[in-house]
Amino acid sequence: MLVYNTLTKKKEEFTPINSPNVSMYVCGPTIYDYFHIGNGRTFVMSDIIRRYLEYKNYKVTFVMNLTDVDDKIIKKANEENLSTAELTERYEAAFKKDIARFKMKPADVYPKATEHMKEIEEVIEKLEQNGFAYNVDGNVFYNIGKFKGYGKLSGKNIDDLEAGARIEINNEKQNPLDFSVWKKSKEGEPSWKSQWGQGRPGWHIECSAMSMKHLGETIDIHAGGNDLIFPHHENEIAQSEAATGKEFVRYWMHFGFLNIDKQKMSKSLGNFFTARDILDQYPAEALRLLFVQSHYRSPINFSRELIESAQKGTEKLDNLGRVLNDGIKKVGGIKVEFDFNKFYSLFSAAMDDDFNTSQAAAVIFDFVREVNKTIAENEDINSDFFRKAKEFFQSTAETVLGIIHFTDLEVKESSNDSEWILEQIELRSKAKAEKNWQLADEIRNSLAEKGVILEDSKLGTTYKKK
Ligand code: AMP
Ligand code: ZN
Repeated sequence: MLVYNTLTKKKEEFTPINSPNVSMYVCGPTIYDYFHIGNGRTFVMSDIIRRYLEYKNYKVTFVMNLTDVDDKIIKKANEENLSTAELTERYEAAFKKDIARFKMKPADVYPKATEHMKEIEEVIEKLEQNGFAYNVDGNVFYNIGKFKGYGKLSGKNIDDLEAGARIEINNEKQNPLDFSVWKKSKEGEPSWKSQWGQGRPGWHIECSAMSMKHLGETIDIHAGGNDLIFPHHENEIAQSEAATGKEFVRYWMHFGFLNIDKQKMSKSLGNFFTARDILDQYPAEALRLLFVQSHYRSPINFSRELIESAQKGTEKLDNLGRVLNDGIKKVGGIKVEFDFNKFYSLFSAAMDDDFNTSQAAAVIFDFVREVNKTIAENEDINSDFFRKAKEFFQSTAETVLGIIHFTDLEVKESSNDSEWILEQIELRSKAKAEKNWQLADEIRNSLAEKGVILEDSKLGTTYKKK
């Protein structure tokens, strides 16, 4: 299996340190708000990588940290008149709910910085002892000039960076590029006791300390969005390797951005859709298929057309899923020849080539076409064929990619659709109350497409079927 390593800029053969165990660390969200579908892309693609490794019989320990001390958190907690703990508790719960709606497998551990102050302090202490960090009156900085490999991940060079950083004036730092590993406490900010006095950790040191605690000094895979290559991951390498003297990460994996109008989707630009808003309007499978249909390292330009076309794709999968469920119940019938092995091999070949999910999805749609063709051309096929087809679908499209879920198909089949329509009406009323007219109209139109007509009156909304 080949994996592209950001560090070497090459696809490399994947050989975990302690096979069949694989340790994987993903930089998770800052829990101060609902996450957007750009973050969602990073989370879902890391979920798919983990699931494929499990498909290959690796035993994966998957750790995703939650950043719960940070300037953005402090600012938002002050604005909302909450303590930072109250704020992060609220958004941690929302995060877990949303990733469950995304049908992600939960991580083995979701470590939080506030629960790892001892480990963080220990790493900083080692850095000081090894001469890589210095304390200036309760502020501790990392001395990047001491670390020979600085820049090896991002390809940046210290001289160029220094030229760019001169403008920043900070008399405390020996070099303008040195970064904080411990920040002296300020009025109104949460702080912890340490050997350097009251303060809080810098962001980068949190990930170094938590990955070491939960996965050991050298880990197999460390992943995150492209934006984290520099400075976050570059600094993590500098800290971890200076503290332990060992290689920190074997394979660095980075996900391309989800963009809107060719601009990165981000909270600060305000051009974002929260995952929960989109998941109110489209099934998780459609959004997952949208992600899967691009290479994980390429950018995606998000649009309504794109998600609607992905939704049409998942409808094709669902339709075949239902046919397979029915076919399995058949008694008697004739045996047909079908080369299932060919599809298993094509699927693995695509995924083994640096998780080429778009190719893997193409294999699945070819499979759908061929199965449908076989069903159309043969009159009375026995249940064995349907069972094998379902097995293929379940182990690839469901268990690895998560773009169809058989249990949901059964629920959809057995439950009365009026319940779903009432849910949609409720969502639309909520959208109207929030003056989100666009969403309200979209819900009305999508119901109309399904033959459900809404009628508003003073008493509320009712519906009738065409
Ligand atoms: P944050 O909450 O901003 O720290 O981001 C959480 C994770 O989402 C990190 O791994 C980021 O690199 C990633 N991320 C942020 N914005 C995007 C985006 N527009 N597209 C893809 N990944 C993103
Ligand atoms: Zn991190």
